[in-house]
Order: sequence, then C-alpha cells, then structure tokens
Amino acid sequence: SSKEKGRNCATFFEPEMDAALRMRRQMEVDLREALAQDQLHMVYQPQVDATGRIMGVEALVRWNHPTKGPIPPNVFVVLAEESGLISQLGEFTVRRVFAETREWVGLPVAINVSALQLRSPSFMAAVTRLVAENAIDARNYEFEITETVLLGDDAATRDNIIMLKQEGFTIALDDFGTGYSSLSSLQRFSVDKIKIDRAFVRNLDGGSADSVTLVEAIIKLAKALNLGVIAEGVETVSQRDCLVACGCEHFQGFLYSRPLQGDTLEQLAGSGQALGPKVAPTEDPRG
Ligand code: C2E
Ligand code: MG
Ligand code: MG
Ligand code: MG
Repeated sequence: SSKEKGRNCATFFEPEMDAALRMRRQMEVDLREALAQDQLHMVYQPQVDATGRIMGVEALVRWNHPTKGPIPPNVFVVLAEESGLISQLGEFTVRRVFAETREWVGLPVAINVSALQLRSPSFMAAVTRLVAENAIDARNYEFEITETVLLGDDAATRDNIIMLKQEGFTIALDDFGTGYSSLSSLQRFSVDKIKIDRAFVRNLDGGSADSVTLVEAIIKLAKALNLGVIAEGVETVSQRDCLVACGCEHFQGFLYSRPLQGDTLEQLAGSGQALGPKVAPTEDPRG
C-alpha cells in the first residue's frame, strides 16, 4: 500500500538525510579551517582582444580539499553564504588578489563578489582597508557582480556599488542575460561592462540564427549604452569568429587559456605573446 511505501521511504530517507546533513556540517567545519589556514588560493584567467593580446584577467578562487580534492567554487561559495563565512571568504579573495597582482601594472584584474558580500558592511570595510594597506590603484580593479545582486533593488547594495565606484573600481555584470534583471538596472547601478554568459556563446556553435541575433543585440545594446562587453566561455574558433562578426572585441575562455597560477600568468602577460588561434579571414561565419 501507499502507506507502507511512505513508511519505507521514511526509514530509507532519514539516515540518508542525516548523512547529507552531517557531510554538510563537516564541509562547513572544513571550509572554516581552510580559511583560517590559508588552504584556498587564486587562479587567473586571461581576457584577450581580437588579436589574442591579454588585456585583463579574472581572478577565480580555488579550494583543494585535503581529502576530497578540488571543490568547485560554485559549491563552496554557496556554502560560505549559507554558513556565515562569506565575508571571510570575500576578504580572503580580495586580500590575496591585491597581494598577488599589485605589481601587475596596467593589467586590469576582475574579482567576483556575491550578492551577500556586496551587502556586508564588514566586506566593504575590508576592501577600503586593503586598498590602503596595499597602496592599490582601484582603477586597475573591477568587481564582477551577477544579476541576482541587482534583484530587489536593495538600497545597501546600491550604496555599496556607488562607494566602490567612487573609490575608482569598475563594475562588470557577470553572466549577463541569464538572470532576471531589467535592462534599466544597467543604468541604475552604473554598471561599466557586461559579460555575455557562456550559455549564449555555446549556442553559437549550433548554427542557430536566433542565438546570433541575440548575441548581436546584446553587443549593440552594450555599445549604445557605452558599456564594455566581453564574451565568456569561448571554446571554439567558430564561436570566436561568430562573436567577431557580431561586433565583439573582448574574449575569455578555454580557446585562449584556462585559469593559470599567478606567476605563470604574470610571465605570459609579460611575454606579450598572443593567445589562441590566429585571427580568421574576414568571412561571415553566418553566411
Ligand atoms: P564566473 O564568474 O562566471 O566565472 C567563469 C567560470 O567559467 C569559471 O569557473 C571559469 O573557470 C569557467 N570558464 C572559463 N572559461 C571557460 C570555458 O571556455 N568553458 C567552460 N566550460 N568554462 C569556462 P569556476 O572557476 O569554476 O567558477 C565558477 C563560479 O564561481 C564563477 O563564475 C563565480 O560566480 C564563482 N566564483 C569563482 N571565484 C569566486 C570568488 O573569488 N568569489 C566569489 N564570490 N565567487 C567566485
Ligand atoms: Mg566572473
Ligand atoms: Mg560569468
Ligand atoms: Mg557563472
């Protein structure tokens, strides 16, 4: 009977849920320890222009768990948000990025911040303090926020974005087009740049005319509003060629480089070497 089934489910799931909860708690303990013991580190992914020249980098956090191996940032950033560790994680990220990149003169560095970080007074205070401590020129740094940050039009978030901009930082809207923010929030939050989400870029390979139209429209919009625009998750030459035909001038993705250790990135950028395949002929890939 269904009653029996229900009971079976209950006895089956309870220990399971218990185990999941225990594992979660353990991960929380582990993350706390990782933060205290500096087990996290940063990697840097190049951003390039149409010739493959590095014109910036995005800093990405990594956690190599002592027994579980690498944990994806998507997983532990959420964990940090849910367990009150996000300010600490955010402060770690900014402190480490400033320390590692302050000598990379002229190479803009983007740092991801989550919605909760941007609402946190302690995170904001930490940024201001770390700028002073490291003699940072904020104009070389960009904060990447996601559209969910702009949802709900939170007053503290807006104030903090304005404060960061007054300090000289630029603001990029990450994963553009995947969230639910209205186009007017681009203006209301004084965003400087949009990052076209990987989902759109991926679809360009399917030969879908609609995807091309969409990407073209995003790029036109960005240019009309005087915003910078970069495509992320560029993996193939055909995606790159299609983006170029759509008017895109900046690119990030495995086609050019995976995220790299700081010293490797510094050497690569210093060499002036162009990344990725040679620029394609001026053939319209949509034709
Ligand atoms: P994101 O900011 O959109 O970062 C881009 C993600 O796409 C990175 O994943 C990057 O490694 C990956 N990626 C880059 N190029 C390609 C490509 O060509 N193909 C594919 N398939 N993937 C590519 P990652 O490092 O796993 O980060 C995932 C997300 O975690 C980030 O998405 C960001 O939202 C968050 N995150 C990463 N580092 C931090 C951080 O320091 N602080 C905060 N708050 N969030 C972070
Ligand atoms: Mg990002
Ligand atoms: Mg993104
Ligand atoms: Mg993302």
